[in-house]
Amino acid sequence: MAENNAASPSRTDDLVQRDRDAVWHPFTQHQLWSQQRPIVVDSGDGCWLVDTDGLRWLDGNSSLWVNLWGHTKREILTAISDQIARIPHSTFLGLTNPAAIETAERLLALSPEGLTRAFFSENGSAAVEVALKMAFAYHRHLGDDSRDLFVSLDNGYHGDTIGAVSVGGFDPFHALYGPLLFETRRIPSPYCYRCPLSLEPETCDLACADKLEDVLAAEGHRVAAVITEPLVQGAAGMITAPDGHLRRLREICDRHGVLLIVDEVATGFGRTGEMFASDLEGVRPDLMAVGKGLTGGYLPMSATLATEEIFEAFLGPVDSGRTLFHGHSYAGNPAAAAAAAENLRLVVDEDLVGMSQALATVLAEELQAADRVHHIGDVRRRGIMCGVEVVLDPETRDSFPATSAIGAAICDRLRADQIVLRPLGDTVVLMPAPAMDHDDLRFLVRRTLAAIDEVATAEAARLAGA
Ligand code: PLP
Repeated sequence: MAENNAASPSRTDDLVQRDRDAVWHPFTQHQLWSQQRPIVVDSGDGCWLVDTDGLRWLDGNSSLWVNLWGHTKREILTAISDQIARIPHSTFLGLTNPAAIETAERLLALSPEGLTRAFFSENGSAAVEVALKMAFAYHRHLGDDSRDLFVSLDNGYHGDTIGAVSVGGFDPFHALYGPLLFETRRIPSPYCYRCPLSLEPETCDLACADKLEDVLAAEGHRVAAVITEPLVQGAAGMITAPDGHLRRLREICDRHGVLLIVDEVATGFGRTGEMFASDLEGVRPDLMAVGKGLTGGYLPMSATLATEEIFEAFLGPVDSGRTLFHGHSYAGNPAAAAAAAENLRLVVDEDLVGMSQALATVLAEELQAADRVHHIGDVRRRGIMCGVEVVLDPETRDSFPATSAIGAAICDRLRADQIVLRPLGDTVVLMPAPAMDHDDLRFLVRRTLAAIDEVATAEAARLAGA
């Protein structure tokens, strides 16, 4: 698999040193980073990354869940370069452009019924911020000033900006910023493997979702919206909710006249086996955030989709105070929009959802072997979103101590197989691009299970002897 056709280690050494000297990486402990030798990505080849030494690496998490077609989809590359040759960027404030108009139309056509307006940003966090602001302002524009609360889920992740962190519920990322955050109410996570209500999924009747009923019964008049990652809480470790969970949240919101914001940034574009996770449950959100795969994973672009009812609440004379005063310098960027419009055309013409479903079948088959790996506690999967939770003791479900950093150790071991994965705590995440070759996926899963077995067994033995 390794092709040292462009070996130039001295260039790589130089880049690594310059990176260490000048760069601050996201979600990275730099005390460790400086002791490691990072892969310096130079180019792509389908679902493989090629580094500056010419080595090939299987992109097992589709470059943090964004890539749908591999990195060299000719049609998208051509759409981007054609657009850049005409104009890479012009403002979307007061002007418009064909690519963004096309993207809005195609996106709305694919989205759950009732969503009629697309507002563009550049990343998922911003798309969530916009949804929160829209929900908050919507009620005020209707004359209801009492709705200043949001309800979110424990273990939720909606991005890194302060509003998105306020509705987040994943303490390792969010606890530090507590004093800066606005007030929310939280309901339990649908984390069946470690049920926060100590119930069993077969008999619980979605008691965790029903906690929303209690919150809204007590304070529904103060709630602007409920926000959720539909059916999969990605960043907390691919926590998959039982069937009916999202529908139950929608029903409760409807009973109390509260808006539902669905954050499909991770789950969107075929990942769960339908176009959107909301489609799996026939749910119509009031607001929906999308990002990541919107451009096929080629350029940064996200969108917040809204119903006509919400959009209309913002209409009024220039001095009405109803204008949505929000928008970024690169909103509606034509180059990103050209990628998105072409990606959305391919999503339909090449049946992305069907492709994703076929890959999910292979993934499910391969994951059956997880039963034979002692330290695997839980395998969670919706479509091609998958998390494998590694535990010290599968009987008691006790985790490895944090100092073992077991997820990171497993992903480090996978570098020897030229596989790039990134853990979420003790959960090893598999998030292949829907277009990944089936044999590449088999290789990915088999090597990952083998690495879990090898690394977790050795670490357990070390701990037992310590
Ligand atoms: N929402 C969800 C569900 C996500 O998984 C993420 C990122 O992983 C975000 C929002 C934030 O997206 P971004 O990193 O593009 O800001």
